Amino acid sequence: MKLVILGSGSYSGTPKPLCSCENCSRARINPLLRRTRFSLYFEKTLVDPSPDLHYHLERLNGKVERVFITHAHFDHIAGFPELQVFRELDVYSHGQGVETAKRLASLFLGGASPERRAWRYHEIPFNEWIEVKNMSVFHFRTVHQPIENAGGFVFDVKGKRIAVTGDTGPEILDDKEAVKAMEGAELLIAEMTHREAIPKAHLGVKEAIELAKKVGASYTLFAHISHSNHTHEVLEKKIREAGIRGEVARDFTWVEV
Ligand SMILES: [Zn+2]
Ligand SMILES: [Zn+2]
Ligand SMILES: [Zn+2]
Repeated sequence: MKLVILGSGSYSGTPKPLCSCENCSRARINPLLRRTRFSLYFEKTLVDPSPDLHYHLERLNGKVERVFITHAHFDHIAGFPELQVFRELDVYSHGQGVETAKRLASLFLGGASPERRAWRYHEIPFNEWIEVKNMSVFHFRTVHQPIENAGGFVFDVKGKRIAVTGDTGPEILDDKEAVKAMEGAELLIAEMTHREAIPKAHLGVKEAIELAKKVGASYTLFAHISHSNHTHEVLEKKIREAGIRGEVARDFTWVEV
């Protein structure tokens, strides 16, 4: 199975307009260092319709049949109306994610299921495995203040497990149920937003590495990287030195599991 990180950045992307930090300055020169907002695609499944979704879909040129939304922050959901190119769509999230997606579709597309389209919304519970088409999905809650509801997912596709942390505070390290669901996954996609963790909001480099060690996935991709984090090569060095099998994602990093 092939997966692609469509966007590897956090809410402001890299370069962030008007920012002259090292990452932003370099990304203006080298397109390989640009980071659009986080999104993941595999098997006609999209995780998080980022505000850069049009750019992602234009390049991916693949069909989306279902979309999972980790939470209703701008950088993870604002691209939802871009899915209008698809006639049929199943949308999965917690209540707040589903309601926000419906509202965006109503505001911009004239209805939650726009004309001539069959869009179905599914509110899915936390801490339960559910069956979706040809996969099982475990939805776990993360601490990500100030938003009320945020989650991550473990997808079991034909016996291969893909874990996605979504945005999360370092509290996830002590969440036994979430760690257990992710444990031994073929692929972990962990957020690594900042240099230093922000309690109850985001992981830092150290915590993301610690989580990767706890989960012990066959391969780990670190994503949702802020412009203010270390440079790509410094992050790569840190994960190599920690002995992690994995890499720091770029936009359109493909992996095969
Ligand atoms: Zn985010
Ligand atoms: Zn910057
Ligand atoms: Zn967020």
